Amino acid sequence: MRYAMAIDTRKCVGCSDCVVACQTENNVPIGFCRDWVVEVMDGSYPQLEIEIRSERCNHCANSPCVRCCPTGASHYSDGGIVLVTENKCIGCGACIASCPYDARYSHPEGYVDKCTFCIHRIQKGLEPACVAACPTKCMYFGDMDDPNSNVSKILKVRKYKTLIPEAGTDPQLYFLI
Ligand code: SF4
Ligand code: SF4
Ligand code: SF4
Repeated sequence: MRYAMAIDTRKCVGCSDCVVACQTENNVPIGFCRDWVVEVMDGSYPQLEIEIRSERCNHCANSPCVRCCPTGASHYSDGGIVLVTENKCIGCGACIASCPYDARYSHPEGYVDKCTFCIHRIQKGLEPACVAACPTKCMYFGDMDDPNSNVSKILKVRKYKTLIPEAGTDPQLYFLI
């Protein structure tokens, strides 16, 4: 099993409903977030194109954050989901420094936090909160090893890219282009 998410940059309107849904679902403290929206302008006037992306932890299959964690707090869980065990984390910040995607933050309670792919919801058969909340249905989540999962099906028919592939982290977030 290999969990992954695909995000359609052609359908995302940048409303940030995914950000609010995540903060609510996961009790993210005020002033912090586990996901965020990026807008990138390309081309030159008047031929301008804007790409809008909802970003979060890439749940990298070769993640530097897991490798560098001195306590084993950062680890791979079911389906390759990268998690932090709060009571094993000493808040050293090595993982924050190692992440090429700036996907982690220091929680005020002394541990490092980030996207969990809403594993607590997946285990109940639900979609991640951000996926469920998106008004344009631009996110697809599921098991890459299952050819019938939403994410496998969309990646078969659409072009996609990953972010900073040169970092060699094998990211599991795919951006449909
Ligand atoms: Fe770790 Fe960053 Fe990759 Fe997430 S995006 S698994 S925090 S290296
Ligand atoms: Fe591991 Fe916590 Fe240090 Fe990150 S801050 S490397 S999770 S002990
Ligand atoms: Fe937040 Fe869950 Fe979406 Fe990750 S999968 S960004 S934890 S709502």
